[in-house]
Amino acid sequence: QWIMGIETSCDETAVAIVKNGTEIAANVVASQIESHKRFGGVVPEIASRHHVEQMTIVLEEALSQAGITMKDVSAISVTEGPGLVGALLVGVNAAKAISFAHDIPLVGVHHIAGHIYANRLVSEMAFPLMSLVVSGGHTELVYMKEHGHFEVIGETRDDAAGEAYDKVARTLSLPYPGGPHIDRLAQSGTPSIKLPRAWLEEGSYDFSFSGLKSAVINTVHNAEQRGESIAPEDLAASFQDSVIDVLVTKTIRAVDEYHVKQVLLAGGVAANKGLRTALEAAFGEKDGIDLVIPPLNLCTDNAAMIAAAGTILFNKGVRSNLALNANPGLDITIHNGE
Ligand code: ATP
Ligand code: MG
Ligand code: FE
Repeated sequence: QWIMGIETSCDETAVAIVKNGTEIAANVVASQIESHKRFGGVVPEIASRHHVEQMTIVLEEALSQAGITMKDVSAISVTEGPGLVGALLVGVNAAKAISFAHDIPLVGVHHIAGHIYANRLVSEMAFPLMSLVVSGGHTELVYMKEHGHFEVIGETRDDAAGEAYDKVARTLSLPYPGGPHIDRLAQSGTPSIKLPRAWLEEGSYDFSFSGLKSAVINTVHNAEQRGESIAPEDLAASFQDSVIDVLVTKTIRAVDEYHVKQVLLAGGVAANKGLRTALEAAFGEKDGIDLVIPPLNLCTDNAAMIAAAGTILFNKGVRSNLALNANPGLDITIHNGE
């Protein structure tokens, strides 16, 4: 069984082919980072145009890497949302066109379900499980009691973790996307600057990062006004320490309360070295808890994760029709194929 995945929700044009649910036969990602860098963030119109230019090339490259033709493909899965509407539309329309032309079933996939299912490419999933989703637009704890069932038990009330990383990086004059740069700087710094941690109400699994982001910006401005200098690596380390402390502490509490068997890390910020190390330290010794962390190329946007989620939905009998549309505000909780 060969399942194609197509992903164009943001600034990566990606097509992948996954064989029998877990084997990556092709995983092609055309990144647009270079085109958006000088604007300090993703420009929607530019993103859409690049997707249109890249789609056919990336698609043909994926088929050629997998050594198959469209005739071998059992289903086409595509990100239907959330994301930039103009960007999503390019992937959805490409998927619909190939589905119609080759008479291949179509399956719409939620982008965050895709990030979570990246883990299935490295390990079997063991339910119930808890997934910590940390990406450019989302910070969530998602409880899953079975395939296709997603319960968001906590989410960010303001900035997403990745967004906070990118904004703090901009304050430190680091290039976009800033997450990897802060991560690298943090490795050589010490968390010596006191920054806030937003725990929110007792028992809440929600997150908030805008206060922390503002505290970093204020720290930089105050130092500038006083003519003092702050070591950027120490600021990066202090910021990262605060983010990771809150993420890991809440994840441990959720794992205990929901009695899960497995913890999955998902989303672009899952590439963060400090976060990976902290989770390994927290769960490595914990009896009966299996921690899964995808390799770096499966953390950031890719289409193999969409094909992995698409495989599960397709095998459950889920089908989309040609009325499938891009949905920038798609809700994950109803995305269970029912
Ligand atoms: P979403 O998935 O919520 O729709 P997105 O697709 O734009 O958003 P991803 O591609 O999943 O987001 O992740 C991109 C984010 O991950 C960026 O904010 C980037 O800075 C961050 N990121 C990537 N690598 C690292 C790292 N090593 N440390 C911290 N953040 C990182
Ligand atoms: Mg991206
Ligand atoms: Fe993403």
